[in-house]
Amino acid sequence: MSADRITVCTHMLLCSTECCYSEMAAGTQTAVEVEEGDGFVDGAETEILENYLENHWGVVGDLVEEATPTGLEAVDCHKHITRSLTVDDEEMFIELSTQEAQNMDVGSEFMDVHADERDSFVPDEFEPIELDFPRPETERIDACTECHGNGRNQCGSCGGSGANQCGRCGGSGTNSDRSASCSQCGGTGSIVCGSCSGNGSVVCDTCEATGESYKMDFVRRVYDPAETVTVDAEGVPDKFVEQATGIELSTDRNQLATDEIRNETEVREVPVAVLEYTYDGDEYTIYQIEEDTKATAHPQSTARKILPIAVVGVGAVVVALWYVGII
Ligand SMILES: [Zn+2]
Ligand SMILES: [Zn+2]
Ligand SMILES: [Zn+2]
Repeated sequence: MSADRITVCTHMLLCSTECCYSEMAAGTQTAVEVEEGDGFVDGAETEILENYLENHWGVVGDLVEEATPTGLEAVDCHKHITRSLTVDDEEMFIELSTQEAQNMDVGSEFMDVHADERDSFVPDEFEPIELDFPRPETERIDACTECHGNGRNQCGSCGGSGANQCGRCGGSGTNSDRSASCSQCGGTGSIVCGSCSGNGSVVCDTCEATGESYKMDFVRRVYDPAETVTVDAEGVPDKFVEQATGIELSTDRNQLATDEIRNETEVREVPVAVLEYTYDGDEYTIYQIEEDTKATAHPQSTARKILPIAVVGVGAVVVALWYVGII
């Protein structure tokens, strides 16, 4: 677009018509077009009515022909989106067998930030995440917490007895008609525990039987995002503005509450074209927001209103006939 050409249009509606951003010479625009309310082009009212009729069920078919526009106004609504990120910390420790700790890079499991400095890390996104911050100075090797230094733990299958009740005879030691000993357990009613081979204890997985383990303290921080949306709707129903994407105007940081690591409010502008019209003596309003037309009421088509009821009615009759076995 060359420098001697201008655009006067600032609203979405215009952008979809030939006026906006088209190659219009500066001198060719009439004063009427500019003054006619916020830069709407001729025929904008008709375009909104057509758009509404196309996209909504149950509207009178002659809406475009019979509606009388009484006002078209551009309203700048705003969405205020406040996002916060709350943190919750838990003191924990990692425990590994000494062999495992030697073989792996334990540091790679953690953030590069020391637990005491964790407030300095502020995530870019408002996402629910969980991060671990280390306390490297607490690295130590001492008694395994799982086996208390024993290297073995009680067998979970048999509870330490080394034997389990025979599954075939249920512990009775006889076969089903009690005429002979149970073939599975030979009459004892119990069988050697398969998990511990009768030992009653198993090797400790945590320390791999050594009785001591590697430990390091860390802080697990859970980030919990929240979002609230409020709107300055300027006479437009709130829900319509809330659903719109809008255009970002600003994003500002807010004072942090206790346990918050981030809090900001983004303001987004939502341009709305508000068309008021009368149809058959009644007043209605259509809101064109971004690509959509929305309204809380419209002239109802009698035929189109009855159709869905008729469909439901026929369906009910069919179900009733089927139920009594006629079809
Ligand atoms: Zn252990
Ligand atoms: Zn048995
Ligand atoms: Zn066992």
